[in-house]
Amino acid sequence: MCSLNFSRGMYACGLQGQKCFEDSLFSCSDCCVSRINRHLSAVASSRVVLAPMAMPRVRIAVVGDVHDDWDSTKDRRALEVLKPDLVLFTGDFGNENVDLVHSISKLDLLKAAILGNHDCWYTIPRSSSDAVEAQLESLGNSHIGYSRMDISELKLSVIGARPFSWGGDDFGRTHELLKERYGIKGLNESANKISSLALNAPTDHVLVFLGHNGPAGLSSEPSDICGKDWSRTSTGDHGDPDLEMALKNVKQKGLHNVQLVIFGHMHKQLHLNRGDRTMLVRGPDNIIYVNAAVVPRVRNVSSKSNNTGITEWETIRNFTIIDVMNNQVTRVAETWIRVGENDFVDSETILYSCMPQ
Ligand SMILES: [Zn+2]
Repeated sequence: MCSLNFSRGMYACGLQGQKCFEDSLFSCSDCCVSRINRHLSAVASSRVVLAPMAMPRVRIAVVGDVHDDWDSTKDRRALEVLKPDLVLFTGDFGNENVDLVHSISKLDLLKAAILGNHDCWYTIPRSSSDAVEAQLESLGNSHIGYSRMDISELKLSVIGARPFSWGGDDFGRTHELLKERYGIKGLNESANKISSLALNAPTDHVLVFLGHNGPAGLSSEPSDICGKDWSRTSTGDHGDPDLEMALKNVKQKGLHNVQLVIFGHMHKQLHLNRGDRTMLVRGPDNIIYVNAAVVPRVRNVSSKSNNTGITEWETIRNFTIIDVMNNQVTRVAETWIRVGENDFVDSETILYSCMPQ
Protein backbone atom coordinates (compact mmCIF):
# COMPACT_ATOMS: atom_id res chain seq x y z
CA MET A 1 0.00 0.00 0.00
CA CYS A 2 2.65 2.41 1.00
CA SER A 3 5.01 1.49 -1.85
CA LEU A 4 2.21 1.81 -4.36
CA ASN A 5 1.35 5.35 -3.28
CA PHE A 6 5.01 6.24 -3.24
CA SER A 7 5.53 5.08 -6.83
CA ARG A 8 2.48 6.89 -8.07
CA GLY A 9 3.71 10.07 -6.47
CA MET A 10 7.08 9.86 -8.15
CA TYR A 11 5.61 9.10 -11.55
CA ALA A 12 3.02 11.81 -11.42
CA CYS A 13 5.65 14.29 -10.42
CA GLY A 14 7.76 13.36 -13.44
CA LEU A 15 4.85 14.04 -15.75
CA GLN A 16 4.02 17.31 -14.10
CA GLY A 17 7.47 18.78 -13.89
CA GLN A 18 6.25 22.11 -15.18
CA LYS A 19 4.00 22.62 -12.20
CA CYS A 20 6.61 21.38 -9.74
CA PHE A 21 9.12 23.88 -11.01
CA GLU A 22 6.74 26.83 -11.05
CA ASP A 23 5.48 26.11 -7.59
CA SER A 24 8.78 25.81 -5.85
CA LEU A 25 11.72 26.76 -8.04
CA PHE A 26 13.08 23.44 -6.88
CA SER A 27 13.59 20.52 -9.15
CA CYS A 28 11.02 17.85 -9.71
CA SER A 29 13.09 15.52 -7.57
CA ASP A 30 13.07 17.94 -4.67
CA CYS A 31 9.33 18.10 -4.98
CA CYS A 32 9.16 14.31 -4.94
CA VAL A 33 11.30 14.15 -1.84
CA SER A 34 9.03 16.66 -0.20
CA ARG A 35 6.00 14.55 -1.06
CA ILE A 36 7.73 11.44 0.20
CA ASN A 37 8.54 13.10 3.50
CA ARG A 38 4.94 14.18 3.91
CA HIS A 39 3.81 10.68 3.07
CA LEU A 40 6.22 9.17 5.56
CA SER A 41 4.83 11.42 8.27
CA ALA A 42 1.34 10.34 7.40
CA VAL A 43 2.09 6.63 7.63
CA ALA A 44 4.39 6.76 10.66
CA SER A 45 1.60 5.93 13.05
CA SER A 46 0.72 2.79 11.08
CA ARG A 47 4.24 1.41 11.76
CA VAL A 48 5.16 0.97 8.10
CA VAL A 49 8.95 0.94 7.76
CA LEU A 50 10.59 2.10 4.54
CA ALA A 51 14.25 1.90 3.58
CA PRO A 52 15.93 5.32 3.76
CA MET A 53 16.28 7.14 0.46
CA ALA A 54 19.84 8.02 -0.54
CA MET A 55 19.66 9.58 -3.97
CA PRO A 56 21.84 12.68 -4.26
CA ARG A 57 20.97 14.73 -7.29
CA VAL A 58 23.53 16.17 -9.69
CA ARG A 59 22.27 19.13 -11.68
CA ILE A 60 23.98 20.08 -14.95
CA ALA A 61 23.25 23.40 -16.63
CA VAL A 62 24.15 23.32 -20.31
CA VAL A 63 24.82 26.58 -22.11
CA GLY A 64 24.29 25.84 -25.79
CA ASP A 65 25.99 27.70 -28.62
CA VAL A 66 26.54 31.19 -27.22
CA HIS A 67 27.09 33.17 -30.44
CA ASP A 68 28.05 36.32 -28.53
CA ASP A 69 25.07 36.13 -26.13
CA TRP A 70 26.75 36.06 -22.73
CA ASP A 71 26.66 38.65 -19.99
CA SER A 72 28.81 37.65 -17.05
CA THR A 73 26.60 39.45 -14.53
CA LYS A 74 23.17 38.48 -15.87
CA ASP A 75 24.07 34.89 -16.69
CA ARG A 76 25.64 34.48 -13.26
CA ARG A 77 22.34 35.71 -11.77
CA ALA A 78 20.42 33.22 -13.91
CA LEU A 79 22.66 30.40 -12.73
CA GLU A 80 22.02 31.48 -9.16
CA VAL A 81 18.35 30.63 -9.75
CA LEU A 82 19.23 27.22 -11.20
CA LYS A 83 21.94 26.25 -8.69
CA PRO A 84 23.79 23.72 -10.88
CA ASP A 85 26.60 21.50 -9.68
CA LEU A 86 28.26 21.73 -13.08
CA VAL A 87 27.99 24.07 -16.07
CA LEU A 88 28.80 22.76 -19.55
CA PHE A 89 29.37 24.90 -22.65
CA THR A 90 29.00 23.44 -26.16
CA GLY A 91 31.14 26.14 -27.81
CA ASP A 92 30.65 28.60 -30.69
CA PHE A 93 31.09 31.44 -28.22
CA GLY A 94 31.42 33.88 -31.09
CA ASN A 95 33.65 34.20 -34.12
CA GLU A 96 36.90 33.90 -32.17
CA ASN A 97 35.45 36.17 -29.48
CA VAL A 98 38.42 36.10 -27.13
CA ASP A 99 37.01 38.63 -24.65
CA LEU A 100 33.78 36.68 -24.23
CA VAL A 101 35.62 33.39 -23.69
CA HIS A 102 37.81 35.16 -21.15
CA SER A 103 34.75 36.36 -19.23
CA ILE A 104 33.31 32.83 -19.22
CA SER A 105 36.62 31.53 -17.89
CA LYS A 106 36.05 33.75 -14.84
CA LEU A 107 32.71 32.12 -13.98
CA ASP A 108 33.11 30.93 -10.39
CA LEU A 109 31.30 27.63 -10.86
CA LEU A 110 32.54 24.17 -11.78
CA LYS A 111 32.53 24.20 -15.58
CA ALA A 112 33.76 22.48 -18.71
CA ALA A 113 33.70 23.71 -22.31
CA ILE A 114 34.57 22.64 -25.82
CA LEU A 115 35.42 25.06 -28.62
CA GLY A 116 33.36 24.95 -31.81
CA ASN A 117 33.95 25.77 -35.46
CA HIS A 118 33.12 29.45 -34.96
CA ASP A 119 35.81 29.63 -32.28
CA CYS A 120 38.40 29.08 -35.03
CA TRP A 121 36.43 31.00 -37.65
CA TYR A 122 39.26 33.21 -38.95
CA THR A 123 42.03 30.76 -38.22
CA ILE A 124 41.08 28.31 -40.91
CA PRO A 125 42.72 27.45 -43.24
CA ARG A 126 45.75 28.52 -41.23
CA SER A 127 46.62 25.96 -38.60
CA SER A 128 46.94 28.25 -35.61
CA SER A 129 46.37 31.80 -34.48
CA ASP A 130 46.75 34.01 -31.47
CA ALA A 131 42.98 34.05 -31.04
CA VAL A 132 42.63 30.29 -30.80
CA GLU A 133 45.61 30.18 -28.47
CA ALA A 134 44.15 32.95 -26.31
CA GLN A 135 40.81 31.14 -25.95
CA LEU A 136 42.50 27.89 -24.98
CA GLU A 137 44.74 29.67 -22.50
CA SER A 138 41.78 31.45 -20.93
CA LEU A 139 39.81 28.26 -20.45
CA GLY A 140 42.81 26.25 -19.27
CA ASN A 141 41.74 22.91 -17.83
CA SER A 142 38.10 23.87 -18.33
CA HIS A 143 38.56 23.22 -22.06
CA ILE A 144 38.09 19.49 -22.38
CA GLY A 145 38.41 18.96 -26.13
CA TYR A 146 40.23 15.60 -26.40
CA SER A 147 40.54 15.43 -22.63
CA ARG A 148 38.61 14.29 -19.57
CA MET A 149 37.43 15.89 -16.36
CA ASP A 150 36.93 13.53 -13.45
CA ILE A 151 34.74 15.00 -10.70
CA SER A 152 35.01 12.62 -7.79
CA GLU A 153 32.59 14.51 -5.54
CA LEU A 154 29.87 14.11 -8.18
CA LYS A 155 30.95 10.58 -9.21
CA LEU A 156 30.92 11.87 -12.76
CA SER A 157 33.42 12.20 -15.61
CA VAL A 158 33.07 14.49 -18.61
CA ILE A 159 34.72 13.24 -21.80
CA GLY A 160 35.62 15.88 -24.37
CA ALA A 161 35.06 14.92 -28.00
CA ARG A 162 36.78 16.52 -31.02
CA PRO A 163 36.93 20.31 -30.69
CA PHE A 164 36.26 22.74 -33.57
CA SER A 165 33.89 20.32 -35.33
CA TRP A 166 32.09 21.54 -38.44
CA GLY A 167 30.03 18.35 -38.70
CA GLY A 168 29.95 15.89 -41.54
CA ASP A 169 32.11 13.04 -42.73
CA ASP A 170 35.59 14.54 -42.35
CA PHE A 171 37.64 17.17 -40.57
CA GLY A 172 37.14 19.57 -43.47
CA ARG A 173 39.12 22.74 -43.03
CA THR A 174 40.17 21.92 -39.46
CA HIS A 175 42.54 19.18 -40.60
CA GLU A 176 45.75 21.17 -40.04
CA LEU A 177 44.52 22.66 -36.79
CA LEU A 178 43.78 19.24 -35.28
CA LYS A 179 47.03 17.74 -36.53
CA GLU A 180 49.15 20.58 -35.19
CA ARG A 181 47.47 20.98 -31.80
CA TYR A 182 46.51 17.42 -30.96
CA GLY A 183 48.48 15.21 -33.35
CA ILE A 184 45.21 13.77 -34.66
CA LYS A 185 45.30 13.03 -38.39
CA GLY A 186 42.03 11.29 -39.15
CA LEU A 187 38.65 10.07 -37.94
CA ASN A 188 39.95 6.70 -36.69
CA GLU A 189 42.68 8.35 -34.61
CA SER A 190 40.13 10.78 -33.27
CA ALA A 191 37.72 8.00 -32.31
CA ASN A 192 40.51 6.07 -30.59
CA LYS A 193 41.55 9.16 -28.65
CA ILE A 194 38.01 9.82 -27.41
CA SER A 195 37.27 6.21 -26.51
CA SER A 196 40.63 5.86 -24.74
CA LEU A 197 39.78 8.86 -22.56
CA ALA A 198 36.45 7.30 -21.65
CA LEU A 199 37.77 3.82 -21.02
CA ASN A 200 40.33 5.19 -18.56
CA ALA A 201 37.69 6.99 -16.49
CA PRO A 202 36.82 5.60 -13.06
CA THR A 203 34.36 2.77 -13.58
CA ASP A 204 32.12 3.95 -10.73
CA HIS A 205 31.57 7.32 -12.43
CA VAL A 206 28.66 8.32 -14.65
CA LEU A 207 30.10 9.22 -18.07
CA VAL A 208 28.98 12.37 -19.86
CA PHE A 209 30.32 13.08 -23.35
CA LEU A 210 30.59 16.73 -24.41
CA GLY A 211 31.05 17.58 -28.09
CA HIS A 212 30.51 20.68 -30.15
CA ASN A 213 28.61 18.50 -32.61
CA GLY A 214 26.71 15.30 -31.91
CA PRO A 215 27.52 11.80 -33.13
CA ALA A 216 26.61 10.39 -36.51
CA GLY A 217 24.04 7.62 -36.61
CA LEU A 218 21.14 9.49 -35.05
CA SER A 219 19.81 11.34 -38.07
CA SER A 220 18.35 10.92 -41.51
CA GLU A 221 16.05 13.94 -41.81
CA PRO A 222 16.98 17.65 -41.74
CA SER A 223 14.97 18.19 -38.56
CA ASP A 224 16.61 15.29 -36.71
CA ILE A 225 18.88 15.98 -33.76
CA CYS A 226 22.04 16.17 -35.95
CA GLY A 227 20.27 16.61 -39.28
CA LYS A 228 21.70 18.88 -41.97
CA ASP A 229 19.02 21.45 -42.73
CA TRP A 230 20.60 24.30 -44.68
CA SER A 231 20.81 22.58 -48.06
CA ARG A 232 17.87 21.30 -50.08
CA THR A 233 20.08 19.04 -52.17
CA SER A 234 22.28 17.54 -49.47
CA THR A 235 20.43 16.78 -46.25
CA GLY A 236 20.46 14.09 -43.63
CA ASP A 237 23.01 13.01 -41.04
CA HIS A 238 25.57 15.71 -40.16
CA GLY A 239 26.90 14.07 -37.00
CA ASP A 240 30.54 13.31 -36.18
CA PRO A 241 31.51 9.75 -37.25
CA ASP A 242 34.45 9.66 -34.81
CA LEU A 243 32.19 10.35 -31.83
CA GLU A 244 29.84 7.62 -33.03
CA MET A 245 32.76 5.18 -33.27
CA ALA A 246 34.08 6.15 -29.85
CA LEU A 247 30.69 5.62 -28.20
CA LYS A 248 30.41 2.24 -29.89
CA ASN A 249 33.85 1.24 -28.56
CA VAL A 250 32.98 2.27 -25.01
CA LYS A 251 29.60 0.55 -25.07
CA GLN A 252 31.13 -2.66 -26.44
CA LYS A 253 33.54 -2.82 -23.51
CA GLY A 254 30.60 -2.52 -21.13
CA LEU A 255 32.71 -1.21 -18.26
CA HIS A 256 31.12 2.21 -17.82
CA ASN A 257 27.75 3.79 -17.20
CA VAL A 258 27.36 6.09 -20.23
CA GLN A 259 24.33 8.26 -19.51
CA LEU A 260 24.62 11.40 -21.60
CA VAL A 261 25.97 12.84 -24.82
CA ILE A 262 25.66 16.64 -24.92
CA PHE A 263 26.38 18.87 -27.89
CA GLY A 264 25.26 21.83 -29.98
CA HIS A 265 26.22 23.15 -33.43
CA MET A 266 22.99 22.29 -35.27
CA HIS A 267 20.60 24.99 -34.12
CA LYS A 268 17.10 24.29 -32.89
CA GLN A 269 15.47 26.63 -35.38
CA LEU A 270 15.77 25.19 -38.88
CA HIS A 271 16.78 27.26 -41.86
CA LEU A 272 14.07 29.02 -43.89
CA ASN A 273 11.69 28.83 -40.91
CA ARG A 274 11.02 25.16 -41.55
CA GLY A 275 10.23 24.53 -37.90
CA ASP A 276 12.22 23.22 -34.97
CA ARG A 277 14.76 20.48 -34.62
CA THR A 278 14.35 17.44 -32.39
CA MET A 279 16.56 18.32 -29.43
CA LEU A 280 16.58 15.10 -27.42
CA VAL A 281 16.76 11.44 -28.35
CA ARG A 282 16.90 8.42 -26.11
CA GLY A 283 18.88 5.82 -28.00
CA PRO A 284 18.23 2.09 -28.05
CA ASP A 285 21.28 1.92 -25.78
CA ASN A 286 19.32 4.09 -23.27
CA ILE A 287 21.86 6.89 -23.67
CA ILE A 288 20.26 10.34 -23.62
CA TYR A 289 21.47 12.52 -26.52
CA VAL A 290 20.88 16.25 -25.94
CA ASN A 291 21.32 19.06 -28.44
CA ALA A 292 21.44 22.33 -26.45
CA ALA A 293 21.88 24.80 -29.34
CA VAL A 294 18.90 27.09 -28.79
CA VAL A 295 19.98 30.20 -30.72
CA PRO A 296 19.72 33.03 -29.90
CA ARG A 297 19.90 32.04 -26.25
CA VAL A 298 19.06 35.52 -24.95
CA ARG A 299 15.88 37.39 -25.80
CA ASN A 300 14.60 40.80 -24.70
CA VAL A 301 11.14 40.59 -23.15
CA SER A 302 10.30 43.99 -21.66
CA SER A 303 11.88 47.37 -21.17
CA LYS A 304 11.63 50.49 -19.11
CA SER A 305 13.53 53.75 -18.93
CA ASN A 306 15.67 54.42 -15.92
CA ASN A 307 16.15 57.80 -14.22
CA THR A 308 18.56 58.99 -16.89
CA GLY A 309 16.28 58.01 -19.75
CA ILE A 310 18.28 54.94 -20.75
CA THR A 311 16.20 51.94 -21.76
CA GLU A 312 16.84 48.85 -19.66
CA TRP A 313 15.73 45.47 -20.97
CA GLU A 314 14.62 42.48 -18.99
CA THR A 315 15.85 39.32 -20.70
CA ILE A 316 15.15 35.62 -20.73
CA ARG A 317 18.25 33.43 -20.94
CA ASN A 318 18.31 29.84 -22.14
CA PHE A 319 19.81 26.82 -20.40
CA THR A 320 19.21 23.11 -20.84
CA ILE A 321 18.90 21.65 -17.36
CA ILE A 322 19.74 18.00 -16.76
CA ASP A 323 19.20 16.22 -13.47
CA VAL A 324 20.96 12.97 -12.64
CA MET A 325 19.78 10.88 -9.69
CA ASN A 326 21.04 7.50 -8.61
CA ASN A 327 23.53 7.49 -11.53
CA GLN A 328 20.70 7.94 -14.01
CA VAL A 329 19.36 10.86 -16.03
CA THR A 330 15.93 11.62 -14.58
CA ARG A 331 14.98 14.92 -16.12
CA VAL A 332 15.94 17.21 -19.02
CA ALA A 333 14.29 20.58 -19.55
CA GLU A 334 14.71 23.53 -21.90
CA THR A 335 14.63 26.35 -19.39
CA TRP A 336 14.37 30.12 -19.73
CA ILE A 337 15.42 32.26 -16.79
CA ARG A 338 14.13 35.79 -16.57
CA VAL A 339 16.70 38.32 -15.37
CA GLY A 340 15.47 41.77 -14.48
CA GLU A 341 13.86 43.40 -11.51
CA ASN A 342 13.42 39.87 -10.16
CA ASP A 343 15.14 36.72 -11.36
CA PHE A 344 13.03 33.59 -11.80
CA VAL A 345 12.17 30.63 -14.04
CA ASP A 346 10.17 32.21 -16.84
CA SER A 347 9.26 28.96 -18.59
CA GLU A 348 10.44 25.46 -19.14
CA THR A 349 9.69 22.59 -21.47
CA ILE A 350 10.28 19.09 -20.18
CA LEU A 351 12.17 17.13 -22.84
CA TYR A 352 12.59 13.97 -20.80
CA SER A 353 11.49 12.68 -17.43
CA CYS A 354 11.74 9.31 -15.79
CA MET A 355 11.54 7.77 -12.37
CA PRO A 356 14.91 7.04 -10.72
CA GLN A 357 15.47 3.34 -10.11
ZN1 LIG B 1 29.11 25.17 -34.70
